[in-house]
Amino acid sequence: MAKKKREVDDRFKRFGTVSFTSISKVNDFIDYLDQGKVMGTRCKQCGRVHFPPRADCAECLSSDIEWFEVSGTGKLISFSKLIYAPVGFEEDLPYSIAVLDYGDYKIFGRISKDIPDEELRIGMAMKTEPITLASGQLSYVFTKS
Ligand SMILES: [Zn+2]
Repeated sequence: MAKKKREVDDRFKRFGTVSFTSISKVNDFIDYLDQGKVMGTRCKQCGRVHFPPRADCAECLSSDIEWFEVSGTGKLISFSKLIYAPVGFEEDLPYSIAVLDYGDYKIFGRISKDIPDEELRIGMAMKTEPITLASGQLSYVFTKS
C-alpha cells in the first residue's frame, strides 16, 4: 500500500523538547530516530559531513547528499553543565551539553542524565544514542561507550 502523502511535513515537531523549524528535506532524520538510528548527511560531491543533517552542502552547495549512521564512539572534547537554560528547556535543568569528536565530524548534544558528573572526563569515549523523552518526543543523548 502506498504511503499517504503528508499534507504538511511536520515531522520535526517530534524532535526534542521544543519544536524545531521544519526543513522538509532533512525530516527523514526524525524517521531514522524513530527507527533507533542517529543519522547525519554526507555530500556525495566533496565528501563533507554534516551533523545536524543538511539538505545542501555548506562547502560546495551541492544537493547531492547521502545519509550515514552515527555509529561507533566519539571522543568527549567539551562539556558544560547548564544551570540556566533557554526558554522551553527550563524543566530539564540541570543538564550537560557536550561535543563529541568522531574524527570526520563533531556532534553537539546532551549528556545522558544517567552519567554522574564526576565520571565525565575530557577525552573519554562516548556514543550517541536515540532516546524517547517522557513527552514522547524523539531526541538523542551521549552515553558511555
Ligand atoms: Zn559538498
